[in-house]
Amino acid sequence: MRIIGAEYLKTVVGPNDRKDCILPEICFIGRSNVGKSSLINKLAMHKIARTSSTPGATKAINLYKVRFDHGGSQKSAIFSDFPGFGYSKVARSTYLSWEQAIETYIAENRYIRRLLWVLDVRRSLDTLDAALLAWINARSLPFSVVLTKSDKESRQFTLAKKKAVAVQLLTEMVFPFSSKDGSGRKELLTHILREVE
Ligand code: GDP
Repeated sequence: MRIIGAEYLKTVVGPNDRKDCILPEICFIGRSNVGKSSLINKLAMHKIARTSSTPGATKAINLYKVRFDHGGSQKSAIFSDFPGFGYSKVARSTYLSWEQAIETYIAENRYIRRLLWVLDVRRSLDTLDAALLAWINARSLPFSVVLTKSDKESRQFTLAKKKAVAVQLLTEMVFPFSSKDGSGRKELLTHILREVE
């Protein structure tokens, strides 16, 4: 399985903006500056996602169409880039407004196959992460975790972090990743494409 093309599709603010599109979707979700845009670009091997600017400034969701080859047949999927949430210096109201915007989008979207929760490998989980976990679990949304910027830590540290996060978030699906050197790309891509095939 490999990606053969990727392009920006559109920016949406609600599920109605998406309703003509029946492709399976993977949602990328995470705090600002965690490396979400870099991750999407590295996965797609195309510079489709733009680095986020002011944290919490937008509620818009950017959709990208990704084409991939699977055993000789071509398929497509949507990668959706959710606005960065949280951020220690932003008021709690930012998180709530994010929640409301995403809520409607997710609730009425039948095409979501999985959330990819993007975390910086160097950071510890905090109360905002606990809130997001509760939010995800309350909606029974399938999710996997990506630990970005793994090139900034030793293999040993990253492996230990992977195990710790798996215990904390109660999931086996934890993928270390580096947008800088591409490590972890193959494993994550295989995981994602299996979800959308
Ligand atoms: P976003 O706000 O979550 O979309 O984060 P960006 O993708 O814009 O990345 C934020 C910063 O982290 C940028 O300066 C990136 O160059 C850097 N960055 C992102 N991913 C990696 C990575 O895997 N390794 C390293 N060393 N830096 C990264």
